[in-house]
Amino acid sequence: MTIAAVFASYVRPAVADSGLPECDLMVAPQTIDELEHILDLASEHQLKAVIWGGGTHQGIGGRIDPDLLIATSQLNRLIDWQPEDFTVTVEAGMRVSDLEEMLADRGQMAVLPELPGAATIGGVMAAGVSGWRRARYGPTRDRVLEVDLVTGDGRRVRAGGRVVKNVTGFDLPRLAVGSYGSLGVIAQACLKLWPEPSTKVTVSVADGDRALATAYRPTAVVESDGVAKVYLGGTEAEVDGQVEALDGTVVPGWSWEPEPTGVVGWSLRVPPASTRSAIERLPSGWRYQAGLGVGEIKAASVDAEGAAELRAWAESQGGALVIVSGPAGLYSDMDPWGTPPPGLDLQRELIRRFDPCRVVNPGRLPGGI
Ligand SMILES: Cc1cc2nc3c(=O)[nH]c(=O)nc-3n(C[C@H](O)[C@H](O)[C@H](O)COP(=O)(O)OP(=O)(O)OC[C@H]3O[C@@H](n4cnc5c(N)ncnc54)[C@H](O)[C@@H]3O)c2cc1C
Repeated sequence: MTIAAVFASYVRPAVADSGLPECDLMVAPQTIDELEHILDLASEHQLKAVIWGGGTHQGIGGRIDPDLLIATSQLNRLIDWQPEDFTVTVEAGMRVSDLEEMLADRGQMAVLPELPGAATIGGVMAAGVSGWRRARYGPTRDRVLEVDLVTGDGRRVRAGGRVVKNVTGFDLPRLAVGSYGSLGVIAQACLKLWPEPSTKVTVSVADGDRALATAYRPTAVVESDGVAKVYLGGTEAEVDGQVEALDGTVVPGWSWEPEPTGVVGWSLRVPPASTRSAIERLPSGWRYQAGLGVGEIKAASVDAEGAAELRAWAESQGGALVIVSGPAGLYSDMDPWGTPPPGLDLQRELIRRFDPCRVVNPGRLPGGI
């Protein structure tokens, strides 16, 4: 039997994203049982598979020439929402925007990245990303209470629990966050929620660093190409007091800026105290968006000129300069992650336990593992 025939019942015209890699075989499981079966078969046939969420950040990490593309678009159901407990459980292919829209009806929010486009819950978790509001609400990984992961060889593993205090043993939900699909497909997750503040405003200011020092627990302070915005949330009295101290231009609501775009996309991560220094070291012509007090800078450039020096400096600070998107040639000239972290053998061994035939996203992580 041909490989196409083996997977025939899972092939669905469900993958509507642009930028799909060339891949003859694309499947979109409709249930987690189907996903288990697909990965079991992929292991048996020694295939290389790429997991496709919204496809918004497939450029992060090593490039893969896949035999099989597994789209999570049909795993998009709401499983359980407990507004009184501030928890929600969803399948991982649900779009972030759909989840946040649903939660907003009851005045709640999951505090995931702010302008998610087509991004999915599974993609956000796999990429270990947080929105700018992490300054106030903490990172995404702190809000993942339970995870169902289907390992590279098709076993369903559940870890954590749907209550806030639940951890006994290793914290596997956090292991899944930032795993870039190297352990398997995140199939379902339970997230802790937050109440939406009754008053939200955005204040544009001339000096972002002064604003960060002045505001009391701002939701975020984000500087884009030299222009800073302070995001505030709370009761009316709390917000009004801060607005006065900031002395800027106020608009109601949170008005997020799109991230900079260019031929090459970068993520520069440094200790929070080094953020200003990092901005000052960006090569000439690079556009940027920086979370002040967070130490994350998204940048875009026309080429990689000056990137090696910037990476060397970032790594000397304990940070990193990661390629987020760019032409294929760049990935062969420059490691997308930079210097691999210590403990690579341990990580390799961990991956082997979850994905013994190395089916899912092989080579995507730092060190090409
Ligand atoms: C540096 C950086 C900057 C970002 N900036 C922004 C921003 O400004 N605004 C914003 O809203 N978001 C931002 N994000 C987050 C990003 O847009 C998405 O939230 C997320 O990373 C991609 O979701 P996706 O569904 O499109 O996943 P994809 O792009 O399809 O996949 C991303 C990675 O996750 C893996 N993956 C996808 N789904 C699963 C799954 N279910 N199980 C296991 N692995 C899976 C993929 O194989 C791939 O390696 C940023 C992310 C990074 C790393």
